[in-house]
Amino acid sequence: MNSFDDISENIRRIRFDIEEAKVRWNRENDSIRIMAVTKTVPPERVNYAVSEGFTLLGENRVQEYLQKKELYDKNAEIHFIGTLQSNKVRQIIDSVTMIQSVDKLSLAREISSQAVKHGKCMDILCEVNIGGEESKSGFSPDLLYESLCEITALPGVKLCGLMTIPPPGDMSFLEKMQRLFEDMKSRRIEGADIRLLSMGMSSDYKEAVRFGTGLVRLGTALFGARNYPTK
Ligand SMILES: *Cc1c(COP(=O)(O)O)cnc(C)c1O
Repeated sequence: MNSFDDISENIRRIRFDIEEAKVRWNRENDSIRIMAVTKTVPPERVNYAVSEGFTLLGENRVQEYLQKKELYDKNAEIHFIGTLQSNKVRQIIDSVTMIQSVDKLSLAREISSQAVKHGKCMDILCEVNIGGEESKSGFSPDLLYESLCEITALPGVKLCGLMTIPPPGDMSFLEKMQRLFEDMKSRRIEGADIRLLSMGMSSDYKEAVRFGTGLVRLGTALFGARNYPTK
């Protein structure tokens, strides 16, 4: 027996919270996508969220994704959001519509070359280490412009914007990220289409609305606490 009442309830709350935050911060005209982050969540639960209109899924782990993808509702659209090793790019290149976690130039190069081999151009976001944290990957804000210019020169990727996982508990990084995003957008980098800021998770999505997010990535707030496999 499966009951998805918890997910229904969470969906109602998330939609309400986002609408409320939009009104509160004068962001009624922003279009904000909500992503369902699926790590450790069984496909039946993911598909319930899809059936309720949360059709954008975020995948973190290549192995887990490959095991689950045939079971997902065909209406789902998949973005990759996790740490991605270059040697695994070819395993996902054909089934995801965006890679949000491009954290270094070498990865962008590999995505580009695999995309060209598959006759496509992959939409990407560059991940920014906005807090300058040792433990996190991503481009440094100071070198971001130069990195973006190099990436847009690659033939098999289309730069669509930026993604970040800010240090927890300090909302000043959301504002810093908003400024950086607006700055990169205003530079009109040739060949780039910087329009999407992917920012905000379960603990900070309402604040992310205030600071101009275009896409929030929700796991816990939607599916509940994650049950990590015991082995
Ligand atoms: C797990 C994860 C999320 C969602 O985290 P929650 O706090 O559970 O909402 C968002 N983005 C990335 C990149 C993640 O790995």
